[in-house]
Amino acid sequence: MSQADKYTTEKIIELQIWASNLFSFKLTRFSGYRFVPGQFSRLGIKKENGDIVWRAYSIVSATYDEHLEFFSIVVPDGEFTSRLDKLKVGDEMLVEKMNYGSLITTRFEQGKDLWMLSTGTGLAPFISILHELDTWETYENIILVYSVREAKEFAYLDTIEGFKAHEYFSEFSEKFRFVPIVTREKIPGTLSERIPTLLESGMLEQEVGLGLDPERSRIMICGNPEMCDDTRQWFTNHGYVVRDRKSVV
Ligand SMILES: Cc1cc2nc3c(=O)[nH]c(=O)nc-3n(C[C@H](O)[C@H](O)[C@H](O)COP(=O)(O)OP(=O)(O)OC[C@H]3O[C@@H](n4cnc5c(N)ncnc54)[C@H](O)[C@@H]3O)c2cc1C
Repeated sequence: MSQADKYTTEKIIELQIWASNLFSFKLTRFSGYRFVPGQFSRLGIKKENGDIVWRAYSIVSATYDEHLEFFSIVVPDGEFTSRLDKLKVGDEMLVEKMNYGSLITTRFEQGKDLWMLSTGTGLAPFISILHELDTWETYENIILVYSVREAKEFAYLDTIEGFKAHEYFSEFSEKFRFVPIVTREKIPGTLSERIPTLLESGMLEQEVGLGLDPERSRIMICGNPEMCDDTRQWFTNHGYVVRDRKSVV
């Protein structure tokens, strides 16, 4: 297979700015592109010299959407995002035909409560997972924890709030609990400690009104590497089986 057969060329069809260094973009979707919610794509941008920079991006959109959506940070001088930041609607991006990743709910067995713990753009795969009917039907309780440093970095709050009135998912709204966290500001209605600290103090369980229990809790973790490592360590110390860096049974 030649290099060019490994990817398709897609177009940006929509951009949404959340903050000076955070935005989402939608791409056209190759009709043969399949993925499982929670997986990531590899996206490419052609450099000035014709080389391609590839980066992993968690898919935000639902499996049944006609487009692919992604949620991105802009890293100052980042090889990929400094170029991505300059693209406009109508510009081209490359999408590898293969999808990747094991941060998917189908790998869990016999869980009753799904805990999705995220920081920053780590929210992305959970938005996709929450758009899957199977998620809502399978679990008795679904908890989304979303931590940012400052409140202006919050994204997708309307989408998250919208699940309560959603055409397909509203009937399950009793199952859903959302825990927003802002770590560098005191914002009413949000917690203000890091996720590992909230786990250690028991405040996260208290806020959710539900205990963590290895028998029934299934945990997915996505976000900055330090949070993922510390959170995974907490679960390891508390008798959970850690499957990989991001999921705990
Ligand atoms: C499995 C996987 C899924 C990913 N999904 C996403 C996603 O959905 N959205 C996204 O924006 N990025 C995601 N990333 C990171 C992404 O692949 C790039 O690293 C990011 O776009 C920056 O690329 P860059 O070339 O500009 O900078 P890089 O040289 O790749 O990164 C420079 C530094 O920026 C920091 N950084 C990179 N990504 C982030 C981030 N998302 N949030 C905070 N700091 C970061 C890190 O400290 C990194 O060392 C994912 C990475 C992996 C491995």
